[in-house]
Amino acid sequence: MVDNKRAEYPSFWRELPAAQQPIYPDTDALKAVLTDLRSRPPLVFGGEVDSLRKCMAEAGRGRSFVLMGGDCAESFYDSVESIRRKVQTILQMAAVLTYGASMPVVKIGRIAGQYAKPRSIDVETRDGVSLPVYRGDSINGYDFTSEARTPDPSRMLEAYLRAGTTLNIIRAFTTGGYADLRRVHSWNQGFTSNPAYMRFEDFADEIDRAMRFMEAAGVDFDTLRQVHLYASHEALQLEYEDSMVRNDFLSGQRYCASGHLLWIGERTRSPEHAHVSFLSSVVNPVAVKIGPATSPLEVSSLIERLNPAGDPGRLTFITRMGSNRIRDVLPRLIEAASVDGRPVTWIADPMHGNTIVSRGNYKTRRFDAIIDEVRGFFEVHKALGTIPGGIHIELTGNDVTEVLGGGAQIGEANLSERYETLVDPRLNHEQSLEMAFEVAEMLRN
Ligand code: PEP
Ligand code: MN
Repeated sequence: MVDNKRAEYPSFWRELPAAQQPIYPDTDALKAVLTDLRSRPPLVFGGEVDSLRKCMAEAGRGRSFVLMGGDCAESFYDSVESIRRKVQTILQMAAVLTYGASMPVVKIGRIAGQYAKPRSIDVETRDGVSLPVYRGDSINGYDFTSEARTPDPSRMLEAYLRAGTTLNIIRAFTTGGYADLRRVHSWNQGFTSNPAYMRFEDFADEIDRAMRFMEAAGVDFDTLRQVHLYASHEALQLEYEDSMVRNDFLSGQRYCASGHLLWIGERTRSPEHAHVSFLSSVVNPVAVKIGPATSPLEVSSLIERLNPAGDPGRLTFITRMGSNRIRDVLPRLIEAASVDGRPVTWIADPMHGNTIVSRGNYKTRRFDAIIDEVRGFFEVHKALGTIPGGIHIELTGNDVTEVLGGGAQIGEANLSERYETLVDPRLNHEQSLEMAFEVAEMLRN
């Protein structure tokens, strides 16, 4: 039986179909890289991963709220300044959400490992020339040349090193006083003095009063100087992920040590295929993206495969339905999970179901559709008496013009101004904060 084999034999995924995997022309080079990676230290440790699993369980119970955010695809060339701004944006959003939810916010970056992308086409054609598509910096290069687009295994070593340096930057920023709540809040006040955001001014004033109250009441702000920002990415490239599996020296359990939380994308989530099998063999918290075509049966099979023991915090579904589908499609999927009874944490990704192509041929999204999908997510959970556990956002701390709308009213004509993403359009810094205020209001109501 498949299930017994799965439990006894962690490499069982190799016998199953695996979508979206690169084919390396030089298999000796691939083997050498994987051997090298297996000998390297883990990027994250079992204790941290276990803490995040507990946080995810709390979010599933409605005692905390998850904010997951970051680039669609990270680049090896991201500057330290760009990473700093992204971390700052996530912390700012988290401060606003904490106040709105009156609950702890679990902060998770799409960061330090988001280097491999699933693509809907295999070949890209420009001016009559066809080449393999870009699949993320850990697989091939972005430049439109045959050399760049050929999968190169040494990119996995570079991904490992870049992830390590990014984690180091995150650790420094989140423990070195930079994340002090008072400081984070003062950044948000800068945002609300922008006339486009006047409507959030009262909210920001309330947070300000709460901070003054805490200070007057003698809250020890030193304990608020440090935050945890966990790292997550899509576990797409199975050879890389498999080479990062370690038995933790304390708990002895099998972790995928490439990141704290790993997710399976909409295109690779078949319960009978390799990605689900691989992630069933490690103990990290796991998320699965589910789109509008997901069936209730798939929901129960994914629970059975990925969380047979029903451990709280182990399994999260990230719903990405589209603002016009979420209210119809989500209820029956939540009901399937409720009937199963094993705990699930629900998170809304309002980005990937709302991607459109502009007249100028830019892949974009409308800010209003993004907000509306989150609203639909909250409405459905409210109607069913279940828990909306968090949001998953593609964002950058930079001042890009990739998503339409928001307070600054980015229009189709503005998209070309600073369209910098490698794959999908991201909320810019101000749109991210505006989103945080919007969602904070939903959490209060
Ligand atoms: C993504 O998160 O960038 C992505 C490709 O999402 P999905 O698998 O939901 O399409
Ligand atoms: Mn994306």
